Amino acid sequence: MKTVENIQKSFEKVEFASLKSCEEKQDEIILSCNFIFSQDISDQTLTVDKKIKICVYKDYPIRLPKVYEDGEKTIKHYRHIYNDENNTFCLGTDFDIYERLAPLYKFDMFLSIIAWFLVDEAYYSIHRDFPMGDRSHFQVGIKETYFEYFSVNSLHDLQIVVEHLYNTGNRMNNKLCYCGSGRKFKNCHKGKFDRILNNAYLKRVFNEDLERLGVTQ
Ligand SMILES: [Zn+2]
Repeated sequence: MKTVENIQKSFEKVEFASLKSCEEKQDEIILSCNFIFSQDISDQTLTVDKKIKICVYKDYPIRLPKVYEDGEKTIKHYRHIYNDENNTFCLGTDFDIYERLAPLYKFDMFLSIIAWFLVDEAYYSIHRDFPMGDRSHFQVGIKETYFEYFSVNSLHDLQIVVEHLYNTGNRMNNKLCYCGSGRKFKNCHKGKFDRILNNAYLKRVFNEDLERLGVTQ
C-alpha cells in the first residue's frame, strides 16, 4: 500500500531522482520527477537527464507502476518502449522486476530499476549494444527469463523443471541437480525453487507466465 507520504520518503533516500509533484487520484498516484545522474560503465561516464512520470497504483506491489517520459519523448528507436499512448518503458519482465524488488518491495528499489533502465538506454543510444546483456522484448523475453533462472535451454527442459518444482519436493535434495553442475540439488538450484515457492508475487507471475508459454503444472 502506497501513500503520497511514503513515496516522498522514498525519494529522500535516493540521489539520482527528485520528485517535482504528486497528483493523487482514486486508486493511483501520478508522480512527476527528474532523473539526473551520472554512471560509469566500462571506462565511460554516462549522463542521464530525463523527465519521468510514474503511475503508482495504491495497491503497490500487487500491481507494478507504469513509467514513461514526461512531455516530449527523447527516447526513440529503443526496443524496450511499448507502442502504447504513453510509450511506457519495458523495465524487464514482471518476474525480473519482482525478483529485484523481493523481499521488501521498497519503492526506492523500484526507482533504482528505472535508473538502470535509463543507464541502459543511454549506453544503447551511443553503442547500439547493452553493457550487461539484454533480454528480448515481449513473449521471447519471458521465456529467456526462465531459461536463465533455471539454467535450461528449451521449453521441454523447463517443463521437466516445473514438474520437479511442484512434485518432487525434498526427495530431490541429495540427488545431483538437474542442471548438470555435478552438485547436489540442495546445494545448487534448490534455492531458486524455494525463492519462487516462498514468495507470493513471484509465484503468481511464474504461474501466469507458464500458462502463456504453454508449460503445464
Ligand atoms: Zn543446478
